[in-house]
Amino acid sequence: MNSKNTLKKSPKLVVIGAGIAGVGAAGKLLTHGFTDIQIVEASSQPGGRIKSSLFGKSTVDEGAQYIHGASVKNPIFQLAKEHGLLQETQDRSDPELSVLTNMQKQMDPDVTKEVKNLSSSILRRAHLIAQQKQYTQANSLADVYLEEVKMLVAQWDGDHTDLRRQKLGLLSMLMKWQCVHHAAGSLSEVSVHEYEEYNTIEDHDRNSQGMLYCSRLFPNLLEKLLEVIPREKLLLKKPVQQILWNGSFESEDRSLYPVKVLCEDGGHILADHVILSISLGCLKANGQSLFQPRLPEQKLNAIQSMGFGTMNKIYLEFEAPFWDENTDVIGLVWEEETPLSRQEPNLAEWWKSAPVFYVFKPTERYGHLLVGTISGKEAEFIESLSLQEVASSLTCLFRQFTGRSSLPELKNVFVTKWFSNPYTRGSYSHISINSTGDMIDLLTEPLPHATEGSGSPMLQLLFAGEATHRSYHSTTHGALLSGWREAERLIDLYSTK
Ligand SMILES: Cc1cc2nc3c(=O)[nH]c(=O)nc-3n(C[C@H](O)[C@H](O)[C@H](O)COP(=O)(O)OP(=O)(O)OC[C@H]3O[C@@H](n4cnc5c(N)ncnc54)[C@H](O)[C@@H]3O)c2cc1C
Repeated sequence: MNSKNTLKKSPKLVVIGAGIAGVGAAGKLLTHGFTDIQIVEASSQPGGRIKSSLFGKSTVDEGAQYIHGASVKNPIFQLAKEHGLLQETQDRSDPELSVLTNMQKQMDPDVTKEVKNLSSSILRRAHLIAQQKQYTQANSLADVYLEEVKMLVAQWDGDHTDLRRQKLGLLSMLMKWQCVHHAAGSLSEVSVHEYEEYNTIEDHDRNSQGMLYCSRLFPNLLEKLLEVIPREKLLLKKPVQQILWNGSFESEDRSLYPVKVLCEDGGHILADHVILSISLGCLKANGQSLFQPRLPEQKLNAIQSMGFGTMNKIYLEFEAPFWDENTDVIGLVWEEETPLSRQEPNLAEWWKSAPVFYVFKPTERYGHLLVGTISGKEAEFIESLSLQEVASSLTCLFRQFTGRSSLPELKNVFVTKWFSNPYTRGSYSHISINSTGDMIDLLTEPLPHATEGSGSPMLQLLFAGEATHRSYHSTTHGALLSGWREAERLIDLYSTK
């Protein structure tokens, strides 16, 4: 049986994936004296879901852009502060939401605020409501949300028909916005336990408080994290094809290693330990064939059951703004919609799934720039459209909502493609109705674990990445903490030597 006193002095480590989890893990191991490390990355650049691109006159973030829960407890906030990256950040905790309807009306801001607060409160308390009311069927956020909304709507009987219709449309918009936060197509895909498991790192709600924004903040931070990693330790454009583990593979100097990482280019790397930080989307797609021997059934089941969906961004550049200078977010309400009618994916009218558009400020820096967010099947679908198709649909959309048929064609459009990216296959994770928080722990369990006592070398496969953080999944800080967690597991394993 392997134990601490039979371990090699200088283990050979491979980190698969150079997203923030992988880079964080490798950086921590290097600073703790581990020298034999290779980071193997499929793409031509590190960062994974931290990625920026040139658009119009500015650089925009394709992936992460907000620090959720900006406090000293948040390692992203802390590191950004240490590296002087917070100077230009803007607080987007309480954005000015301006809601337009497809009947060319502007919703009363007080009504908007009231309905938005009610909606957020239901969602945050969903698991408690389900418990208190002993719902037997409740397993999705939609189950609880819609029951509560029905009661809410009953109280609106005295409202004028127009107002009632607008409020229902607004609730429908807010549901879509919530789906974007979970990268889900519908709240019926997300477990009622999502908010019980997910914690904000500063005890604030992630969608309404403690949100800092600055373009390129995350790519800049990643560059800082990469500074401790010697360039030759990062192998780019080297997709991993298969991981052979629990074996005994001989190197040229006749040393034996339990793990052999096979790359698509025909090369291989031997290792004592592999930290795997590829996305849950990639694990879902390749989990069966990626490992030899297969992963234990329970782990494979967790991978398949956990939630991982697509959220895409649509960047839009206008010649001139149609929005008020105080507006931070433009919400689009379809007055005929109600949250109480079943929402099926609607690819023919995909733009109806883009509930909000964020305004970039200051204008001198970004020009007249908006970014829309879209999730679910519609988010996957728009990746197949040409930019011209997206631009003309959205020009029609804004003409309809503003009532200004003369609104000029969009100057420039850019759509992110997280679903068709073979090294991401979606955007981020959530607790699906088929999963539980325990499944996150199951996914995270290293193999073989110390307790197994099988005689095999311990901790050959370690699992990091955003989806492996039970409380902070779907975020950059969750990803970074997961990388550090796995690095610490190895540091601890070798610490008594
Ligand atoms: C549109 C969008 C918006 C977001 N907004 C925010 C936000 O505002 N705030 C926030 O905190 N978080 C946000 N997130 C989430 C955040 O970006 C992720 O949680 C985090 O970046 C994930 O890091 P990771 O290291 O776990 O995974 P990844 O960044 O996905 O890294 C995994 C790496 O593995 C590589 N890889 C995959 N397969 C292979 C293979 N076979 N061989 C070798 N390498 C491979 C990939 O190329 C990638 O570089 C957003 C994500 C998206 C997509």
